[in-house]
Amino acid sequence: MIFTIRDDDTNFFTTPEELLTVYGRIWDQCPVSLSVVPFHACTPSKGIPRQYWHGDHTFPVGDNKDLIVFLKQMIQAGRVCITMHGYHHKDEEDGPEFVAGRDLSSKVIKGKRYLEQLFGTPIQVFVPPHNALSFEGWKAVTDSRLSLSGGLSARKRGIRLSDFPDVVLSKISKRRAWCRPRVCRGHVEFGYATLSPSADLKSVIERLSMCRGPSDFFCLATHYWELPHHHNNENAVLRDMLHDLLARAKSISGVQFTSLNTAVNVFSKGS
Ligand SMILES: [Zn+2]
Repeated sequence: MIFTIRDDDTNFFTTPEELLTVYGRIWDQCPVSLSVVPFHACTPSKGIPRQYWHGDHTFPVGDNKDLIVFLKQMIQAGRVCITMHGYHHKDEEDGPEFVAGRDLSSKVIKGKRYLEQLFGTPIQVFVPPHNALSFEGWKAVTDSRLSLSGGLSARKRGIRLSDFPDVVLSKISKRRAWCRPRVCRGHVEFGYATLSPSADLKSVIERLSMCRGPSDFFCLATHYWELPHHHNNENAVLRDMLHDLLARAKSISGVQFTSLNTAVNVFSKGS
């Protein structure tokens, strides 16, 4: 089984200390796939300070020099892989960026190129903000041959299942949808389980135990800015819950802790 950690929202305002505090004891055991926002806009998001929730500015992640130097070191050490999290992560009036935004194809191309030049590493995976994609969003991402983590739910895509003859998850078992990435022409689509303050821990553990087969895949999706906080119902801090889940994963025979980029290569080859 391949086990991955996906962490969303790294952006211009993220500090190396925030990432070190939550992942310093994790990423030598399991690399963290950081989904980075190339040009964060002013928009209500707990991933940026509240004073920047409104306005017209955008904040290129590359302008945070300390963060870039730090992340390049982490990439070099194999602790981090960079994926792309939207373009500016702005919530439009009608929905999230890759459901209701405009010019999505050019945003994917521009954001991907920017991150690749900034970090000197190929961008292979796209994570849509709020895990939500419209058909146009899906097409913009997959036409650029990027793989996907998130955006697989028809409800979050905001479209009819019949619009997706190719990706009808309702027709396949939950186990297959969760544990086996969907390998399409030119890209891979990965499921994920969320660790957040409102997450149902029982169902995360259930899913982990469901995906323990030799060709299975499991991705735990987190937000670095949430991990220092308590879970809403469990008497535990999310960071400690992450350590517990990692310990559970370690007990699975043959488990491989890898990045999403490595998972793309593994599953594309197996197709
Ligand atoms: Zn996000």
